[in-house]
Amino acid sequence: MENLLKKTANYSLSFLDSLESRAVGVSANPDQLKELFNQNLPEQGIDSELVIDEIVEAAEPGLMGTQGGRFFGWVIGGAHPAALAADWLVATWDQNAALYASSPAASIVEEIASDWLKELLGIPRDASTSFVTGCQQAHFTCLAAARNYLLNLRGIDVERTGLFDAPKVHIVTSKQRHESILRAARFLGFGADSICHLTSGQELDLDELEATLVALKNDPTILVLQAGDINSGAFDPFDEACDIARKYGAWVHVDGAFGLWANASPQYAHLLRGCENADSWATDGHKWLNLPFDSGFAFVKNSRAHKNAMTIEASYLISGSDQIRDQINWNPEWSRRARGFPVYAALRSLGRSGVRDLIERCCEYTKQIVEGLKELDGVEVLSSPIINQALVRFTCPNFSADRFTDDVIEKIQMDGRTWFGGTTWNGMRAMRISVCNWRTTEEDVEVAIEAVSDASYACHDVCASSLSKPNLIKL
Ligand SMILES: *Cc1c(COP(=O)(O)O)cnc(C)c1O
Repeated sequence: MENLLKKTANYSLSFLDSLESRAVGVSANPDQLKELFNQNLPEQGIDSELVIDEIVEAAEPGLMGTQGGRFFGWVIGGAHPAALAADWLVATWDQNAALYASSPAASIVEEIASDWLKELLGIPRDASTSFVTGCQQAHFTCLAAARNYLLNLRGIDVERTGLFDAPKVHIVTSKQRHESILRAARFLGFGADSICHLTSGQELDLDELEATLVALKNDPTILVLQAGDINSGAFDPFDEACDIARKYGAWVHVDGAFGLWANASPQYAHLLRGCENADSWATDGHKWLNLPFDSGFAFVKNSRAHKNAMTIEASYLISGSDQIRDQINWNPEWSRRARGFPVYAALRSLGRSGVRDLIERCCEYTKQIVEGLKELDGVEVLSSPIINQALVRFTCPNFSADRFTDDVIEKIQMDGRTWFGGTTWNGMRAMRISVCNWRTTEEDVEVAIEAVSDASYACHDVCASSLSKPNLIKL
């Protein structure tokens, strides 16, 4: 055991050290990676140290540098040191955090960390919490509570009878909503058709919202608002929207996967004004808080609806008293890892000011990247940073901006110094800028701008020279 774990710790350290110098993207292709992993399932097992050597060797060419400071694709945080170390303990202790009885420490740490989270995120102190695998499962959990509450009001015990006799549940939301809302709706038996998209553009139109809720007045309705749009980082007007929803008896759920963390900074907290008036909130630990993956949080104001939706009894479970928390009563999973420890570790180690710094630093670097890119020829800012997200596109005279933007993104990814991804926004191809990692430094920002600049000018050369190759011209 000792050699095995020390070897693994040493490798982990050298991996983290390599983040500075390794390419951020991956150049290996699927066939090469399959070849590397393609071993037989052995009849006789092989030595554990050897297995770790094998895994490291095979995985290395296929590992993205998302842990490093120059990865700005999607919304992916790094792993904060204290959280990473606590995550090792979670695996080492190997507790089943389903019941208080199966791990008292894991149950209590979730209770304490949940209070800290509510304080930081501006969520009412009496809301109940689930520590789930991510924001997707947090949506599922919150919307299951909404389903229980809204149908119970209409005399339906959905946990017993299912949806067969239930009226249609509507989910009203903007066109910009995240696809994980759709999946939660599917898992809960509402189906894709339950989603009623408001037609308004980037900004939620409150008149349209009210007219929609008036039309659905007698039907069970969930309004899903966004704290931090994945492309633009935009926030819905919570205060006004919650007031309107309240008038028509709609349940308000907030998708705040990363945006809810803006509440930790006095500079950005105003974006969440009124958000505390919602009924449920979903967010992530593994994005902006920089916990290792497998960490999201569901908060529900009506804790009875939350518990009714999730609770379960089985003959072999040992249920505790009302004083203690059996996580199985609040979570969709049965057996589960003791997710509370990395949360506790990150929050203790960062403190309130550390979280605030992390949030503000990421927002500041997003601005710096946009400022830097704006100086380059042909760069158009499509969405200026509100928090830590922004969108730009690249233009040149001889190609369409969509094609040119994709060309530049590909070139950046191949270069390896940094990594940005693409998206389609308002019908245009765009490059997303998302700064979400505690590791990112001002120097990383400079290197990233330089790498984008080099890629963009290299593509401009191709664009210009394409004038003499008419078959490449695409007008
Ligand atoms: C990432 C994200 C989700 C999904 O969260 P997971 O943790 O990946 O399940 C939902 N909504 C938004 C806005 C996101 O950015």
